[in-house]
Amino acid sequence: MRQLGRRSGRLRSEGWSFLHPNGIKRADMDTAILLSALVMTAIVALRYLATSGLFAWATARLRPGLYDGLAPQIRKEIFWSLTSAAIYGAPAGIVAWGWHNHGWTRVYTDIGSFPLWYLPLSLALYLLAHDTWFYWTHRLMHQPKWFRVAHAVHHASRPPTAWAAMSFHPIEALTGAIVIPALVFLIPIHISMLAMVLVIMTVMGVTNHMGWEMFPRWLVHSSAGNWLITASHHQRHHDEYRCNYGLYFRFWDHLCKTDKGLGQPAIRP
Ligand SMILES: [Zn+2]
Ligand SMILES: [Zn+2]
Repeated sequence: MRQLGRRSGRLRSEGWSFLHPNGIKRADMDTAILLSALVMTAIVALRYLATSGLFAWATARLRPGLYDGLAPQIRKEIFWSLTSAAIYGAPAGIVAWGWHNHGWTRVYTDIGSFPLWYLPLSLALYLLAHDTWFYWTHRLMHQPKWFRVAHAVHHASRPPTAWAAMSFHPIEALTGAIVIPALVFLIPIHISMLAMVLVIMTVMGVTNHMGWEMFPRWLVHSSAGNWLITASHHQRHHDEYRCNYGLYFRFWDHLCKTDKGLGQPAIRP
């Protein structure tokens, strides 16, 4: 009997080591995954607070009075954005854990693994894929049924501020949170370019909502500007709702005739 017990114990441990070659117990693994998700949530939250805080501070200095009377709205924007940080942090943390421990994803660290010309190409592919996903899910969320459920929270910011960058209902946050964790399984990318994607995503998310244009006129009103989305373009989406749905580029808006051109950010003092 004791022998049987010992054998079944050995079989159990062999079973575990088959599933987890490093011999890590399931409970330890669950704790590591949870910890990774929590750490990533904290990073996303701090990244949001630092970036939105920086541009809100710049707004107070460069456009004094622009956010006057918006304190109650800003409190809601911060609440929804911090909720979104957890929804963004969880899948990113799980994928980061798998990348670190099991070599998941196509993220590479050896710069020689792909030709150098692939670096800017991978950046462009990520931005285009993210933009395409955003455009179509965003349009879907402007269908009346979905708007009420998932997108009204984002449009409750009238006008949006630098704190509205991640002010999403959890359903909308989920549609955004899965994009990069899914893309890293599909498209190879060097870790530095992935960092660049996250920087562009964060900075454009904040500045497109802050109520004034930081890019120079010569760029925004140029033929290149005709294909790029900055605050002047996204502000019009918040003013008029059923136009200018894109994230980074105006390609889909032009193609689907939903582009209404630039709005008038920062018409307040
Ligand atoms: Zn917006
Ligand atoms: Zn919208």
